[in-house]
Amino acid sequence: MSRDSYNPYQNAQRQFDSVAKEIGLEEAIREFLRQPMKEYHFTIPVKMDDGSTKVFKGYRVQHNDARGPAKGGIRFHPEETINTVRALAMWMTWKCALVDIPLGGGKGGVICDPRNMTEREQERLCRGWIKKLYKNIGPNIDVPAPDVMTNAKHMLWMLDEYESITGGRYPGFITGKPVTMGGSLGRTEATGFGVVYTLREALRELNIKAEETSAAFQGFGNVAQYAALKYSELGGTVRLVSCWDFADKKACSFYKEEGLDIEALIESADSYGSIDKQKAQEMGCEILAGDAWLEKDVDILIPAALENQITADNVSKISKQVKIIVEAANGPTAGEADRIIRESDIFVIPDFLANAGGVTCSYFEQVQSNLNFYWEKEEVLEKLDNKMTAAFKDVYKLADKKGLYMRDAAYIIAINRVAQAVKMRGWI
Ligand code: NAD
Repeated sequence: MSRDSYNPYQNAQRQFDSVAKEIGLEEAIREFLRQPMKEYHFTIPVKMDDGSTKVFKGYRVQHNDARGPAKGGIRFHPEETINTVRALAMWMTWKCALVDIPLGGGKGGVICDPRNMTEREQERLCRGWIKKLYKNIGPNIDVPAPDVMTNAKHMLWMLDEYESITGGRYPGFITGKPVTMGGSLGRTEATGFGVVYTLREALRELNIKAEETSAAFQGFGNVAQYAALKYSELGGTVRLVSCWDFADKKACSFYKEEGLDIEALIESADSYGSIDKQKAQEMGCEILAGDAWLEKDVDILIPAALENQITADNVSKISKQVKIIVEAANGPTAGEADRIIRESDIFVIPDFLANAGGVTCSYFEQVQSNLNFYWEKEEVLEKLDNKMTAAFKDVYKLADKKGLYMRDAAYIIAINRVAQAVKMRGWI
């Protein structure tokens, strides 16, 4: 299925609808929660270095803020769509509720390709995004963060623009800032480490020793790199990672039966998570097709690239050896594939649980920024581990007690928490 025909928003709504029905959520709350509270669509004219002006399309979606200010990243992607942003905003609401942090769900995006833009052009785009939105976002309204192809540098330009317009210092306005400028130690590692904290708990519950397992990752960006490092630290063997090859305009995989040297591979990757093929070959990696990550005989699959990667077309290619799928990316499993997986013996750690470490640490960053008092890295990671472990245990306990699929159990907990906040506020 192509990115054009796949609608992640429909997928997010279907997931919500089926759980809302299951738990008997009242009609008005269902209607309220199955769509975003607010959406902003806007154009951003940017002066390019060659003197021309390009107009980019930008979005911000605030799905729900009953439990606290909306929170969510901003993606720069040439194939960004409003339906992707809507789905991601919705998943942020459930994610924040699931790890029990006082934040709601939001997401933003710009249709652009930063790889074809200079630093100055990217800065103007970031500032333009804020100019269009500053009245509708803020530390107590909606707090942005980095996501695919945005980073600390972009966040600081956005913060600076926001502070220039509003005339104050509001470090809690945005997260994912550089550590020297109000960012949190541990934020870079947080999502990937969080993925593995949940995997570690799953292995414990399933009585599987990490040292006896192997894994394949799709993607080798921020999330996959830190998850692969942490998983290796637990004793697991990473046999395969894949990434996008910009030169060939297709994905490719790097495979080594006895295990990849993750630190060396990270050294050979660029800032967009693309691995240098020649260096990888020198390390003894076999270069395979982009979809090989799904087909190899490993115990654990970790999709950590983009949404809609496990589909009805390729789900049957998953090896019989696979015991656990950890959804590190947002929405990597399409609905039909998910229906097949839930009938199988594969244990799934759903995306909004597995990758909640990022937003949890963003919340820690916001707390530190608002207090203007910063914690040591060990303290941040310990708090992160506690939150992720507690969230995993809540979901596992419910799934185990009621014989539920992990995704459904996670949804039940999250939706009930948000619905309760909506009711307590007297909105419905
Ligand atoms: P990133 O941009 O740093 O890395 C993305 C990686 O995916 C790159 O290695 C890229 O080459 C690879 N990739 C892209 N298309 C591919 C394809 N078709 N096949 C194989 N590899 C491909 O992004 P990231 O920050 O690591 O985020 C990855 C996923 O995790 C996204 O779904 C994102 O929304 C989600 N996520 C990220 C965070 C975070 O803190 N960064 C938090 C929560 C969720």
